[in-house]
Amino acid sequence: MSSIAIVTSRGAKRLAAGHPWVFRSDLAEAPSEPAGPVRMADPRGQPLGWAWWSPTSEIVLRQVERDGDVSIDRTWWRSRLAHAIARRAPLATVTNACRLVHGEGDGLPALVVDRYDRWLVVQFLSAAIEAQRGVIVDVLQELAGPAGILARNDASVRVREGLSKGVELVAGQVPEEVEVDEHGVHYLAAPWTGQKTGAFLDQRENRVMLRAHARGRALDVFSYHGSFALHLARGAESVTAVDASASALARARANAARNGVGNLECVEADAFEFLRDAAARGERYDVIALDPPALAKNRGSISGALRGYKELNLRAMRLLAPGGVLFTASCSYHVTKPMFLDVVGDAAADSHRPMILRALTGQPLDHPEILTIPETGYLKGMLLENGEHTA
Ligand code: SAH
Repeated sequence: MSSIAIVTSRGAKRLAAGHPWVFRSDLAEAPSEPAGPVRMADPRGQPLGWAWWSPTSEIVLRQVERDGDVSIDRTWWRSRLAHAIARRAPLATVTNACRLVHGEGDGLPALVVDRYDRWLVVQFLSAAIEAQRGVIVDVLQELAGPAGILARNDASVRVREGLSKGVELVAGQVPEEVEVDEHGVHYLAAPWTGQKTGAFLDQRENRVMLRAHARGRALDVFSYHGSFALHLARGAESVTAVDASASALARARANAARNGVGNLECVEADAFEFLRDAAARGERYDVIALDPPALAKNRGSISGALRGYKELNLRAMRLLAPGGVLFTASCSYHVTKPMFLDVVGDAAADSHRPMILRALTGQPLDHPEILTIPETGYLKGMLLENGEHTA
């Protein structure tokens, strides 16, 4: 066995088309190396650059560098991470929390780094990344100078990589809660225990977009710790935040107090039931945020998820006052952009309201979605207006 991974010509074609993954079925010859960076070549010996080698994964190789002559060393890491961090520079004026590395979207497959003020939360999501943990942490210390680094290695993809799951302090100290400033709204993120790495950073700009429409009665469904609600409270008379999680809502209340918000009501309820009951009571809202969790967790659950999205959107549309605005989102990777447009369109048809499409949104600057790598994209949003005339 040589130290080079040989990729089938089908695998090489896929790489040439801009997708960095090589599946096990396209591995012609495994390299002799342990998990980590390896060089690749096609069956004729044409070099294909460097990849992360994950011996136990279905995704055995993830290309990181087309040039096989460079070395994957500290200098390489420094340059790749510095480039990713520099890309986020424009966000520094609006927030102290953002994603610094979005895996494949930043040319760094299987690595996620989120910044929460002075602290970093990382996810080492492949065996090859795990093997390079030392240099990654070292360079992050140098470039970002964090007060602490936490590894949220509790993601289940790690199991497929033959890695253990757990949350680990990697450097310094990381507090239970970190105050995030998001376009002037303050909230506490929970790096150790919160969803994802502590907060949903990816909806930042959508919250600001919806805030511009805040007025009258506002509703934030699937509110988590009050994320959209806190922004809406700025311009609305009253805001209702709905979530099934009591602990998330406890943080929403604390966040409201932190922002001096007195017009937020928190309701612990199942969102489907809440929307149905609100419609039965004849409630009307002027602004609604609808940001459910990923309803399709895998390919097999797509049709069930679409029914869920249809129902939620239909119910939300029925609650919209004439002229009211709805922001609806899907973070299910398996529900594609066309599917989401279709299902929201179906809901609009059933709602018998002329729903106006005001904006289609994707991912913010710090979550780059690469067109040739569909897996880097998951978040879709639509800003809709109920075009009915007021009586
Ligand atoms: N809008 C939030 C993120 C929402 S994440 C933000 O921008 O930060 C999804 C949320 O839905 C979680 O807080 C979870 O507790 C909640 N949730 C999941 N299923 C639910 C259900 N059936 N009813 C109400 N809330 C639910």
